[in-house]
Amino acid sequence: MANQDDQFKKVVSHAKEYGFVFQSSEIYDGLSAVYDYAQNGVELKKNIREYWWKAMVQMHENIVGLDAAIFMHPTTWKASGHVDAFNDPLIDNKDSKKRYRADVLIEDYVAKLDDKIEKEVEKAAKRFGDTFDKEQFLATNERVLGYKTKGEAILKRMGKSLGEENLADVKALIEELEIVCPLSGSKNWTEVKQFNLMFGTKIGASADASMDLYLRPETAQGIFVNFSNVQKSGRMKIPFGIAQTGKAFRNEIVARQFIFRMREFEQMEMQFFVRPGTQKEWYEEWKQARLKWHLSLGLGKENYRFHDHDKLAHYADAAADIEFKFPFGFKELEGIHSRTDFDLSSHEKFSGKKLQYFDPELNEHYVPYVVETSVGLDRMFLAVFSNSLQEEELENGTTRTVLRLPAVLAPTKAAILPLVKKDGLPEIASKIMDDLKWDFSVDYDEKDAVGRRYRRQDAVGTPFCITVDHETLENDTVTIRYRDTMAQNRVKISELRDIIKEEVDVKKWLMKM
Ligand code: ATP
Repeated sequence: MANQDDQFKKVVSHAKEYGFVFQSSEIYDGLSAVYDYAQNGVELKKNIREYWWKAMVQMHENIVGLDAAIFMHPTTWKASGHVDAFNDPLIDNKDSKKRYRADVLIEDYVAKLDDKIEKEVEKAAKRFGDTFDKEQFLATNERVLGYKTKGEAILKRMGKSLGEENLADVKALIEELEIVCPLSGSKNWTEVKQFNLMFGTKIGASADASMDLYLRPETAQGIFVNFSNVQKSGRMKIPFGIAQTGKAFRNEIVARQFIFRMREFEQMEMQFFVRPGTQKEWYEEWKQARLKWHLSLGLGKENYRFHDHDKLAHYADAAADIEFKFPFGFKELEGIHSRTDFDLSSHEKFSGKKLQYFDPELNEHYVPYVVETSVGLDRMFLAVFSNSLQEEELENGTTRTVLRLPAVLAPTKAAILPLVKKDGLPEIASKIMDDLKWDFSVDYDEKDAVGRRYRRQDAVGTPFCITVDHETLENDTVTIRYRDTMAQNRVKISELRDIIKEEVDVKKWLMKM
């Protein structure tokens, strides 16, 4: 655990020190769970957004984009169920006065059982050596099966109690499991209460004429209310999707873990409209498609897993998370939900407008079913950033900090470095930069010894350093240094564009899907 904490602290401090993420309003001591993206962070975030957009919109003839406003008519949130049901169950510890999400306390308890299973597997793997069969061990070992059954039973009971609004039983479960406050170690809990997560605000100049609004807690509803507009104006045929990226706001009870859980964050969502009855197939299809997208970035297959939900949201008939191994363990990165016709039907009811589709093949009108894929851009950022941050022992006994970002996402693709600040080398370096910046985001750096400049670029994840030296004056060649291997090759200036493109081309990365 200490190790995980250390690694996470490194992630947070590296993000600040190298201009990726700052606490919001830091000069006023910050605003809790709100963050700003700095010069490098904004580029990484933009590249992740683009990587998603290309995969979802550009590569699918039947998916189009949308950019709906953050403010929406307040009835939207009545219809969507958010006014009545967008709650988290909270519980306070009377001794530490700390507030927790009751469901998260229970889920953390189950996660500890999962850790125990992993430890059993590690022990057994050591004991049996090459003959170890993990699948068989997981399926037959009594201790493992005991932990598994216990975990499943706990989650099932929690799902049922929350579904039935039986908050007393949620508290009873916390007591039965003897869950203690992580801070005070005490079991002195209050009752469990529901807390609505939406932020309210007002529109209009005068107090009487003003209207209560909410900041949207998800981008999805902007898509649903525009369903007919997009379908008709784009002459879309089912199945088709509408994709959108944008800010969402939630008054999270426990906002910890850096940009993992923020009060203002960005989502990348796609709502896929399908014929009723086909939603299960599309749900499975999108689960696999989304996992492939994640895997294409090469952060390691072992760092992802599906978690199928027992506790279904009020709108869903199936739901799964793609979980990622963050520095603090496996947690939700993306949600895939089969939302049925809940949203469109409900908006029909509340607005009195038809939100239906005429299916020419069936010759009938219906309210489409919806499969949603929803990934947090900030969580994606944290996944990529934390996984890429590595400290490496070098052969000469020193260490280097390197941010092994997938090259396609790196904020800066290449840094151009004149070896010395004289003899015409800076001029050539500037010329190379002026030429490459049409195609890539590049950086120029002439300060300090070249070794230190390499280290600086390693720390912000720049895949290539291009060094201009005296030989360049003679034969138009430069050295190109690769971030990951630190190998250096001598190449012609005229070859640089192709070499860089080969590594950072979105097509090459997405083709791995
Ligand atoms: P959690 O269980 O972690 O609160 P959720 O199930 O409420 O998340 P969804 O409503 O499914 O999340 O939202 C879709 C995605 O939006 C999540 O998978 C996550 O990546 C992102 N997300 C949700 N809440 C936050 C938040 N407070 N800060 C950052 N990202 C978030």
